[in-house]
Amino acid sequence: MAGWFLKTLKFLELWGLPFLLVVQAFLPPALIFGRLLPHLLSKTYHVADGDDEHWVNEVPPEDRRHGVTAAILISVFFAVTFLLWVPAVVYALWSWHVTARFRPLDNPPRVADTMQVQKAGDKKRRFCGLCNVTKGDRTYHSKQLGRCIPFHDHVCLWWAGGVWLENVKAYLVFVVFLTLYQVYCTVVAIWVLSIPDNRNSNPHIALGVLSGAMAIYSFLIAMRYWFSLVACNALEFDTLAPERYIWVNGRTYTWHTKRMEESPWNLGWSKNFRLIIGPWWSLPFFWTTTPLMHAAGQSPLRDGLLLPPIPLQNLAPSRRDEARSTGSDVGVDARRRSTLTPRHSSSRSD
Ligand SMILES: [Zn+2]
Repeated sequence: MAGWFLKTLKFLELWGLPFLLVVQAFLPPALIFGRLLPHLLSKTYHVADGDDEHWVNEVPPEDRRHGVTAAILISVFFAVTFLLWVPAVVYALWSWHVTARFRPLDNPPRVADTMQVQKAGDKKRRFCGLCNVTKGDRTYHSKQLGRCIPFHDHVCLWWAGGVWLENVKAYLVFVVFLTLYQVYCTVVAIWVLSIPDNRNSNPHIALGVLSGAMAIYSFLIAMRYWFSLVACNALEFDTLAPERYIWVNGRTYTWHTKRMEESPWNLGWSKNFRLIIGPWWSLPFFWTTTPLMHAAGQSPLRDGLLLPPIPLQNLAPSRRDEARSTGSDVGVDARRRSTLTPRHSSSRSD
């Protein structure tokens, strides 16, 4: 009994939201184009005068004009929201289940001047024992695909697929326009219910409740991922470990991932946007190649991580003279020394 119950739960967890998403794609257009538009454009006109309710054949011309305007607005808003979220999610699904599954794994050089490392103070890239590969920055192992995926953010329950380098833009477009679409469907359902003929229409009541609940859920999801990805440039996978380590100019930067905004790749929301999405006007073109894809998922580090030059007056007098006479070598050496991680400096003094 318990096994059966767990199996059902697992099934619902995997397929419940995708099923609701399919309902969202087909039910509203059926009701809008089947009921609402014919009503707005019809030649008959409902008159309720106390107990006397009847239909007359001719709509007054000004009412018919309003009906046509409303029908055009409804159709345009439907087209804009529907034609962005549906193709975006289809593209994201394809990108995950086909491209990410079969594309050869990235194989970065074993060491670089700046890179994500496994441990503080250790100049070694992270290694995946399951795939037997060296991992590039922000490449994480996906259990669903059984391989390492660059810029892997999370697996989305809405469409049972993962967000990664090549569909992150489509995903961000999807969550925004899905939310707008659901708000719109809620408004339309309430509107149709206000038409006397449809007052007790069960499909419309179901649509109103479903869209309203799903709009709230999608709005929260959209806020969460636009904040982490665009405002902070922090992946959900980045934040699964309490600390991440970046080797930069001979020292380790430790990122405490609870503070998402301190992500070493956070360039500020405007630069993050241009990196992950491209220019603002390219937002609806969710299939285009983004600057992040050109860089194979390697975002540049933010400026604060690169070490500030050490002013000469902070050096001891003899070293200051040496620095003056020999140029930058001493400066670099001193910079390295002064920026060792605390663990290192204590082990040196021992
Ligand atoms: Zn792996």
